[in-house]
Amino acid sequence: MTSSLRPVALAVRTPPKPLDEGRRTVTMRVVMGIFVVVPFLALLAAVPVAWGRGLSWTDAAIALVAYTVTGLGVSIGLHRYLTHGAFTATRWLRVALALAGGLAVEGSPTQWVADHRRHHQFSDREGDPHSPWRYGANIRGLARGMAYAHIGWMFGRNLTNRRRFAPDLLADRDIQRLERMWLPVVSLALPALAGGLLTWSLYGAVTAFFWGGLVRVAVLHHVTWSINSVCHVIGERPFRSRDRATNFWPLAILSFGESWHNSHHAEPGCARHGVLRGQFDSAARVIWCFERLGWARGGPASGRAGVGAGRRRGGPAPGRGGVRARGSPGREPGRRPGRRSPRPRRPAGRSSCAG
Ligand SMILES: [Zn+2]
Ligand SMILES: [Zn+2]
Repeated sequence: MTSSLRPVALAVRTPPKPLDEGRRTVTMRVVMGIFVVVPFLALLAAVPVAWGRGLSWTDAAIALVAYTVTGLGVSIGLHRYLTHGAFTATRWLRVALALAGGLAVEGSPTQWVADHRRHHQFSDREGDPHSPWRYGANIRGLARGMAYAHIGWMFGRNLTNRRRFAPDLLADRDIQRLERMWLPVVSLALPALAGGLLTWSLYGAVTAFFWGGLVRVAVLHHVTWSINSVCHVIGERPFRSRDRATNFWPLAILSFGESWHNSHHAEPGCARHGVLRGQFDSAARVIWCFERLGWARGGPASGRAGVGAGRRRGGPAPGRGGVRARGSPGREPGRRPGRRSPRPRRPAGRSSCAG
């Protein structure tokens, strides 16, 4: 049985809260630097280590499982469900998705969601936390902008205001309890524990920590961040959107369909991002399975068709001065009511939200 647990709150006609809620402290930036740099160093070391037979089948299996769980946690949990409310889920699935996303070591789910809702509200305009176009469209400005969009923005001083962009998650006790559970440490410790138990050796725990912990985190980091940088610069734009989001096929598999980013920006409330023929979107398939199992509703298996349906159905995205009430006419954050939904520039082979 499913309940209507879209991450939403009642719209309130009050002056908008500030975009930022404070500043990142030096300690926050140092801790974040450790969780960014150490996995990346492991990624650099991965090739020589693998060459020296430091990778066993057990390590590979643990890394693959950890990557899949946390990658789907980002794509389905943090992004399609918690940020955009593209489908509804049972209570336990909601918490499980937040947990899987939290284990991706990409910050707390609430902060992730707040940053991403803000990104949609100001996409590629002033106020966007990570637009690659912020320093201009010439080669030098774009190179600098892509580095900023990929990684630099996370070390900026300002913190996106969670009370403005994610009040629904702040009010969710289960999710707030999850965020106090040292999820980044758990995420790195679990593969080591699995490796140690499966091989019954300390060496097995260490190599599983390296591959299933550090290398896996680094790969997912850079895949996710490429959606912010590469997928706003390089690729096709089959749908009209008011930003420069693109579809970049080489990342479709590794990102679980997130790299169909132009389609997503054209229709943020759609659970399926790969809407055209041949666009592989594994996260949409998993949501479809959740629906078939009775754990979710309103996603790809619901049969709702047409790009534009998601916006009409609406997600939880906040507009100016509050978040949209459940059941009210949905709209993309920042888009003025009454504006027309984007349409495909060319006839789409299968331009449907439905699976
Ligand atoms: Zn984007
Ligand atoms: Zn989005």
